[in-house]
Amino acid sequence: MIRAWFATTLWKRIMAMLVLGILFGAIAGDAASSISWMGTIFIRLIRMIVVPLVFVTLVSGVVAMGDPKKLGSLGIKTLTMYIGTTVVAVTIGLTMAAIFQPGVGVDLTGAAPKAVDRSHSLTETLVGIIPTNPVHALANGNMLAIIFFAILLGSGILMAGRKAKPLAEVFDAGSEVMLKMTHLVMETAPFGVFALIAGVVGTGGVGKLLEVLPLVGAFLSACILHLVITHGSIMKFMLRLSPVRFFRDITGAQLVAFSTSSSSGTLPVTMTVAEENLGVNKTVASSVLPLGATINMDGTALYVGIVAVFAAQIFHIPLGLTQYVLIAFSATMVSVGTAAVPSAGLFMLAAVMAVLGITDVQTALIVGFIFPFDRPLDMIRTVVNVTGDLSVSTAVAKWEGDLDEKVFNASAVD
Ligand code: ASP
Repeated sequence: MIRAWFATTLWKRIMAMLVLGILFGAIAGDAASSISWMGTIFIRLIRMIVVPLVFVTLVSGVVAMGDPKKLGSLGIKTLTMYIGTTVVAVTIGLTMAAIFQPGVGVDLTGAAPKAVDRSHSLTETLVGIIPTNPVHALANGNMLAIIFFAILLGSGILMAGRKAKPLAEVFDAGSEVMLKMTHLVMETAPFGVFALIAGVVGTGGVGKLLEVLPLVGAFLSACILHLVITHGSIMKFMLRLSPVRFFRDITGAQLVAFSTSSSSGTLPVTMTVAEENLGVNKTVASSVLPLGATINMDGTALYVGIVAVFAAQIFHIPLGLTQYVLIAFSATMVSVGTAAVPSAGLFMLAAVMAVLGITDVQTALIVGFIFPFDRPLDMIRTVVNVTGDLSVSTAVAKWEGDLDEKVFNASAVD
């Protein structure tokens, strides 16, 4: 049995345990939380490797580029694709919200208000990318600051040339080691996923979804349309690659995203899947994906947009084209600033609500109302977020001549 277990590809094992976890959660109910420690161990393990993985692989990725010009062209393509796909996602989300009218007839009485943070200003966020102390950034997992420092360190190694060769080798060896560690940790994924999903189902998150059906309907259809139409078209028409292959190759990462609700927690798996199943070269994967996990959140953007429409309808705020454009713009900005951890998107609503003239007190009511249903929706938007990162990394790799199509077209390993 043990041999058969290890002979089965990882994503199939995760899938099987996901289904078993749902069944277990449904049967055990609240008691399912007694195995939540298994899920916690899994999440701690993957979070443990995120910072060293991103730091080490990004430095070695920059060094492997060998040419700062390449970094520039990669950066421009990556950012354009990230922002472009997010804008498309919000547009699809708002269209669905206009069709489903999720807030019409919803009564907020009984909702317990939840306080929300005002997000930082854009300048503050941008300036904050530069760490005053890189060790502090590493210790706190401040991803954008880590990325900034790693790119600079990699460039420094390149500029120092022959003298810095030993350091370049250390980072290269380090990134190999981190990848092996990721593989080890991923062996625990099926059990972690089992426990996490059993906990969600057992404590009733899914059943309660029925109460916010139109909101869920708008959100789900927007997610499906975005995955199939946007990312399907990127594969088929922009890259001339098979969308079916793409979705098959990334199932493992999607399942982990679904059960952890955290793009940054999923990052080690996202990177492995990109390199080993999609054939994205290591340099591209190690630079494009950590950035994506941090700033590219299509699912969050479309969700925040839909909830803004939901709130406007509840508070009878008329929505014209200007308001929709404002929502789209601020939802895109908010998604860039959302932390890649569970439920982060929900607490970023204030900024989008503010542009519609919705007060903090009203926002707190909306967040309090949605909070009980947020987990399952978060699981889905995280899948969309991670899929977006993988799709963009494939595109950038292809345009940079860094995609191994033989690997892309071969059967997925994990
Ligand atoms: N959980 C999401 C993620 O990590 C962020 C969000 O709450 O929207 O991608």
